[in-house]
Formats: sequence, structure tokens, C-alpha cells
Amino acid sequence: MTGTIFDIQHFCTGDGPGIRTTVFLKGCTLHCPWCHNPESQSFRPEILLNSSLCISCGSCDGVCPAGDAKTTLSTAESRAACGSCTACTDVCPSGCLEIAGKRYDVEEVMAEMLQDEAYYRHSGGGMTLSGGEPMAQPAFSKALLEAAKAAGLHTAIETSGDGRKEDFLAAAPYADLWLWDIKMMDSGLYRELTGGDLDKMLANLAAVAEAGANIRFRVLYVPDFHDRDGIAEATAALLKSYPQYESEVIPYHLLGNAKREKLGLPEMRFREPATEEISRFAAFFG
Ligand code: SF4
Ligand code: SF4
Ligand code: SF4
Repeated sequence: MTGTIFDIQHFCTGDGPGIRTTVFLKGCTLHCPWCHNPESQSFRPEILLNSSLCISCGSCDGVCPAGDAKTTLSTAESRAACGSCTACTDVCPSGCLEIAGKRYDVEEVMAEMLQDEAYYRHSGGGMTLSGGEPMAQPAFSKALLEAAKAAGLHTAIETSGDGRKEDFLAAAPYADLWLWDIKMMDSGLYRELTGGDLDKMLANLAAVAEAGANIRFRVLYVPDFHDRDGIAEATAALLKSYPQYESEVIPYHLLGNAKREKLGLPEMRFREPATEEISRFAAFFG
């Protein structure tokens, strides 16, 4: 059983209880414009180019089957010619070319996870699956959760709620906690901005809740979007319909733009909310 992962981060403290290792799966069925991990959206490996580190050594000249590596990687359009062969990353001496996305099998992930086993046991931590969308690689995600549970670890999975209901239900027995992202409680805007189907997300949420899952809502806040008339109210109504679950506000931040630049994508022009705006938005949900 293998899957594609673009990062494994150790000693995380914000993705569930205790000290955790967060496994970021590559590939997402949505395309949120505010995504802070834009390298997570494509299912295939991608090369990140940090031009500021380039020392113009010329080592990547001539190794690129698409022509010239830096030109190929310079825009989203020219990247269509990149076959992710990694020839340029192999020869770059300055670390400005890195690959996002590598195949792992379950045993490899667990071996890396269990390096920090003592920390999980002392803190009540464990494994969190994030992404990308873990439920876009449902069999691999389920296998990872199952292996972590078998090792006696706490398991969490962060999801947008997009995917097949049967996959959510198959994973549910192995997830101690679902971190359920609320992206946009307006079906028209949700479809327009993310490409997703709000009714499908809500049906998956209801099914997982019905199965007895422990859920924590993560309510995204992009100022001038989520505080528009009717949207905060719809979000509050959703949270109220699940009074047994806690929620937290996740304010938009600009970190995704640095990664967009490395992917040849244009900057996103959302703004970060001020502290008082976050407090006002959070107060809406009691
Ligand atoms: S990964 Fe391969 S195809 Fe893509 S830019 Fe580098 S050398 Fe060229
Ligand atoms: S190998 Fe790396 S440092 Fe050298 S020119 Fe290419 S991108 Fe720049
Ligand atoms: S669901 Fe998450 S990973 Fe997928 S595009 Fe939206 S923010 Fe990015």
C-alpha cells in the first residue's frame, strides 16, 4: 500500500492533542484560492523553485528533457512540460530546487512516526493526516490510520469533507479525531471558489457524526469573504446543529504566497485579518 506525501512534520502541537507527527498527503479535490499549501493540490510530484537561492551555477542547464529547467519551472503554463523527472533537483548544489511529492509505503511512514513514540506516549499525541485532502487517497489514509491505531497511537485526520461517503465511513473507526474544515457556508461561493459541492460535504459530515466520530470544526476566516452577510450566520447555524463538537477559527495568513511564487503561480491578494476582526468573527460562534 503506497501513497504520495509531500511533507512529514515532527513535533507539531496544533493538529490535535499532545505532540504529533503530521503527514501531509499530496493531492486535493478542491482548489481553494486561499490554500496555504498550494503544492498540495496536484496529485503529481512538483518542483519548487526558490530563485532567491539560485547561484547561477549552470548545473541544471542541459539536464532537463523539457529544455531548460529554470525556464520550464518559471510559470504555471511552462510547467506543463515538466515531467517531474527530478534531474534538476539532483544536480542543484544550492538547495533552490526541491521536490514536493514522494511515494511512501505504510511501513516507511510508520518507521518515521515511531521515532517519536516516547513523545506521543508522554503527551497523548500521535499521528495527524493532513494535506492536500487525505480522503483523496482513501485506501492509503485508512491504512495509515489503522497502522497507527495498531501501534497504540492517537490518530487525527484533517479534511475538507470532500470525497466519497463510503471512504469516510471506512476510515471513521480508525480516527480518534476529525479536524473538519469549514471552508465556506454558501453553496454558490463554495462551488465557485473551491470547485466543491457543499451539500456533499454536509452529507459526509452528517454520516461521520452519525457513526459516532469525535469532530473538531476549523472555521476558515478570510476577511471580506467569510464575514459577508449570511455566511457567518450560516456557519453559526451549522455549528449550533452539532453542539457536541468544539470549534476554532483559523484566520487566513499569507504564507501560501511564498509557495505560490516557487510554483510559478501569481500572488493571491487576500489580506490577513487584524486581531480585532478575528475576535469579532469568533464571537459570532459564541
Ligand atoms: S523535474 Fe525534470 S522536467 Fe522538470 S524542470 Fe526539472 S529537469 Fe526539467
Ligand atoms: S542548479 Fe540550482 S543553483 Fe545552479 S543554476 Fe540551476 S537552479 Fe540555480
Ligand atoms: S481543501 Fe485544503 S488543501 Fe485542498 S485546496 Fe482547499 S485549502 Fe488547499
